Parts: sequence; structure tokens; C-alpha cells
Amino acid sequence: MSREHRVALFIGPPGAGKGSLSEYCKRELGWKQLSTGNLLRRHISEQTELGKHIDLIIKSGKLVSDELINTMVEQWLREVYSQGCTGVILDGYPRTIAQAKALNTLFERDLKALQLNVVRFLVDDQVAIDRISARFICINKDCQAVYSGLKHSSMRPKEDMACDKCQSPIGKRKDDHESVVKDRLSMYRKHESDLLHFYQKIGLKVIECDAGQSMGNLFNEFKTLMNIH
Ligand code: AMP
Repeated sequence: MSREHRVALFIGPPGAGKGSLSEYCKRELGWKQLSTGNLLRRHISEQTELGKHIDLIIKSGKLVSDELINTMVEQWLREVYSQGCTGVILDGYPRTIAQAKALNTLFERDLKALQLNVVRFLVDDQVAIDRISARFICINKDCQAVYSGLKHSSMRPKEDMACDKCQSPIGKRKDDHESVVKDRLSMYRKHESDLLHFYQKIGLKVIECDAGQSMGNLFNEFKTLMNIH
């Protein structure tokens, strides 16, 4: 990868559409995505030692330790960096100031060649809650495609309760229940201002996009803001 190659940090509340926009970027631009949430859910599904340890944390909407997440992301980034690709998305990372600082140190020290872009998803809490209550994901740990049960959504599955991509059943995420969602949203808001303050302090521009619009429109806005033609 070289300096034209981008690393986009997708920062936004649950239900903002970070995963869905990542899908567009993968499909249309050939980018790669690391969703820390997907990676952790895969560990839970495979019942690894780590998976057993984090299961309850994730179900209850709390955050997994910074140290653990930082190590995972660093490993993944180094691997992708050595393989090369046009763009990379970190979806749901960084989520805390400690993660943002660790990532920044890594970039300053070892990954100077890459262009870092912070993309903030702006969306009302109620829109996010409505999306999450209608959200389904593919239960296949290697797929985890996201669908919506909302009537007019372009993300409805073609077949009832089956994944378009791999035909596995789709279902609810354990942390997408109303009681947990409100905590996840307030946790996000609590850390968001620290993250924005940090990026402002180090002089990194934060690109803001309107995540309340349709995914197709959001993708077009994203490309314009990122100067992608
Ligand atoms: P997500 O799929 O991004 O909504 O993440 C699901 C859950 O995984 C979160 O509620 C956290 O418990 C955990 N998680 C994902 N990313 C992170 C992160 N960067 N830091 C800490 N915990 C995370």
C-alpha cells in the first residue's frame, strides 16, 4: 500500500450503517474491512478461549478491553499492509481514547505511508434504535451479512429469514435487544466527544456524513467527501 491508499476509521453509533457502507466499499471499490465486532462474534461462535471470555461482555453491551482490541487490530493491519490493497476500513474502531492513541502511535511509528481518514456517521438515536430493532444478521460466522426487516429497506433479504449470500438462516444479534441498545448508544456518545477532541487536537480532519439517508446515497456522499472518482 502507498500514500494514495486510505485507511478509513468509521466512527458512529450502533445502527448508523457502518457495516452496510463497508459492504458497498468492499463490493464497489475493492476495499478491505475489519469489523472488530464481527471478529469478536466469530470468536464467540467458535467458542475459543477468548470467545468464552468475551461472550457476556458483548451480550451486555459493554466494551472489550482496549489492550485486547488494539492487539487484534494491529495484527490485522500489518497483515493487510503486507498484502496491499487500495483501501481499508476499520469499522467500530477506535471506540475509546486509548484505542485512538494506540492506533495513532502505530501509524506514526510503522505505517506512515498510509493516509488516515476519520469518518463520522451522523444519525439520530431514534433512527439508530429503529434500524437496530429491525436488524438481522446472517448466523454464519464467516458471513455475518446484515439485513433489515424494515418494509421499504433495500437491505431486506430476498428470501424470508435466509441470507442472500450464503443461504444460512438470519437472526437477531444477542446485543440488539432494546434493553442493551440504549446502553450501547450512551456508551458510544460518552466516548465520541473524547475521540473527536483527540482528532481535533492532533489536527486530523473528521469527515462527517449524513447516515440517516439511504445506503446508496450515503455511499455517493462518502465517495464525494473522500474524493474518490
Ligand atoms: P459492533 O458489531 O461494532 O456493534 O460491536 C459489538 C460489540 O463488540 C460491542 O458492543 C463491544 O462489546 C465489542 N466491540 C467491538 N468493537 C470494539 C472496540 N473497538 N472496543 C471494545 N469493544 C468492542
